[in-house]
Amino acid sequence: MRAARLEDGGLHIRDLPIPEPGDGEALVRMSAAGVCHSDLHLVRGDWFGITGTGALGHEGIGIVEALGAGADAYVAVGDRVILGLGGAGGGYWCGSCRYCLAGHPRHCVQTRALMGTFAEYLTVWAPALVKIPDALTDQDAPLACGGLTAYGAVKKMVNHHVMPGRAIAIIGAAGGLGHYAVQIASAFGYEVIGVDVGPERLDFVKSLGAAMALDASEALDVVRAEIGGVDASLIFSAKIAGFNLGFELLGRRGLMVCVGMPATSEGNIEINPFTLFGKDATIIYSAVGNVEDMRELVHLAATGKVKSHVSRTGPLTDLASIFDELEGARYLGRAVITDLAG
Ligand SMILES: [Zn+2]
Ligand SMILES: [Zn+2]
Repeated sequence: MRAARLEDGGLHIRDLPIPEPGDGEALVRMSAAGVCHSDLHLVRGDWFGITGTGALGHEGIGIVEALGAGADAYVAVGDRVILGLGGAGGGYWCGSCRYCLAGHPRHCVQTRALMGTFAEYLTVWAPALVKIPDALTDQDAPLACGGLTAYGAVKKMVNHHVMPGRAIAIIGAAGGLGHYAVQIASAFGYEVIGVDVGPERLDFVKSLGAAMALDASEALDVVRAEIGGVDASLIFSAKIAGFNLGFELLGRRGLMVCVGMPATSEGNIEINPFTLFGKDATIIYSAVGNVEDMRELVHLAATGKVKSHVSRTGPLTDLASIFDELEGARYLGRAVITDLAG
């Protein structure tokens, strides 16, 4: 089978044997795989210089082709499934450690990541698979990480008592995650202020249902003049400037939900303690979501409330050029590999 691999920091397309499903695993034939910004960061060695060797890709939709022992309790051969759960924690969790039992399987002491959707076949721990209805197409593959991560961030607002109907800001609203967050937060009843850069991206944000679409250069002035401050900001930007803006947009007692993971070279978030004292903000990080979040999101998407915006598709051999385009922010929404054998 064909598979994209990272080897000593270089991207290669290799011919590999089709893997055999182990106990509790399903063999999935991939029909589509989304390209996440995290894949680009890994390929570029953006995070603390990490340039690993291994499988790549953590968003996908496929068909179950074979089952290992015990996996039939979760899926059947022929099921159409979405997989990935954002990679981190998406491969295995024990279900019985303190983190699993508290509802945080990503922090499981035995957690395993799920990587390798840029391949014709992949073996996956069956409980991590979510069956999908026909209403979802292969173009919905980015729901597996981009959508799930946006959904998890929006749910944090509910968990922190940010009331529906209140104004919230989404920084990086036209991107792979942001475009989902605008739709999900609107579906939850929030008044969404989408922030991005340039008229084309702001028109796109408006079309997703945002109450307001503001350029990053004017967002602070407009929000201060018209609203005073937002109750929460969700930050999907991969730039520290986006984090600073998200904090500044907050009203008193606001919630800052950090999601983007800028390259290490971007430096740190710096907040003056006196400013924090005055604003009395709550600052949290939100990473991906769990399998139940994925089921809830699939339901929202099946009812038409969340649509995937895919503006670039191609075969596996296009992966390197798609990374270049993603780096240059040359398309809206997401890119999806639709031919894993190509
Ligand atoms: Zn991702
Ligand atoms: Zn556990």
